[in-house]
Amino acid sequence: MSESVPNEYPIELSPVDITPYKKGNTGVNYVTTLDSGKPGPHVGITAVVHGNELSGAITLDYLFQNDVRPAAGKLTLAFANVDAYHSFDADDPTASRFIDEDFNRTWGLDVLDGDRDTVETRRARELRPIIDQVDILLDIHSMQHKTPALMICGPLAKGQQFAKDLGTPEFIVSDAGHASGKRMRDYGGFGDPDSPKNALLLETGQHWEENSAYVAVDTALRYLKLLGTVDVEFGQDDHLELPDDQKLIEVDGPVTIKNDTFRFAEAYTGFEVIEDAGTLLGWDGEEEVLTPFDDCVLIMPNRRLVKGQTAVRLGRVVG
Ligand SMILES: [Zn+2]
Repeated sequence: MSESVPNEYPIELSPVDITPYKKGNTGVNYVTTLDSGKPGPHVGITAVVHGNELSGAITLDYLFQNDVRPAAGKLTLAFANVDAYHSFDADDPTASRFIDEDFNRTWGLDVLDGDRDTVETRRARELRPIIDQVDILLDIHSMQHKTPALMICGPLAKGQQFAKDLGTPEFIVSDAGHASGKRMRDYGGFGDPDSPKNALLLETGQHWEENSAYVAVDTALRYLKLLGTVDVEFGQDDHLELPDDQKLIEVDGPVTIKNDTFRFAEAYTGFEVIEDAGTLLGWDGEEEVLTPFDDCVLIMPNRRLVKGQTAVRLGRVVG
């Protein structure tokens, strides 16, 4: 089990029962591919890459309950780290993030083709042939802290453009990922500037915040409509208002923890803007960590401050 961290947020959401979707139709448990029989992209939505993140599972359940059928191309709906999801315990809600390791750091070819044997590498290898077939992916996550939803679009122009075309959420974060391993969003053609494939990683809000489920459903519906996978009437009563404008934040690089202890100077929760370069952010071991540039935006400060992991991402608003 992953290390639990104290949770100060109310548990407003409950895990939905996903066992009706176990059999699926692809030969891989908890993966369903619906085929319109007509030309069009193979569109995917993935949920519970992290087992304690409920809004994606609620969204896939919503789509199944509303009998979603692609009007063009194919639609794959996949629950990723189901073993972790099934270990969810409302009394210790952070512990179900993963079983052996973070599933979303196992998508480098060195890991997928290697011999590291964990619950998560086994599941990633099972899902890999499915993800290989998907042209466009929306991977739904949620966050430790209660901050506005954000879309992680990767480092490439094609991801930034896709997040803008979608028009929501307000904040788009463009980054290259983590030192500790590749995300599914960055795997294969998704991370290749010359491939037409594309992927977005949505952070819908705080893990157990009711609003994060509405954000997840709304964004998934807009995504499916943008790609022509469902028509505009589908689920129209469940839309939220679009933000007036979107802000693109480019991450300069993650702050990767080098020592056995790391602590922040303040209880950051995310989206703080630190005006002056050289401001103290925290200590990595004995070493001071300073903001490297003016107007530095803190993205998703981590509460699991473990050596080799990302402590926080530092970004600039560029558009
Ligand atoms: Zn996540």
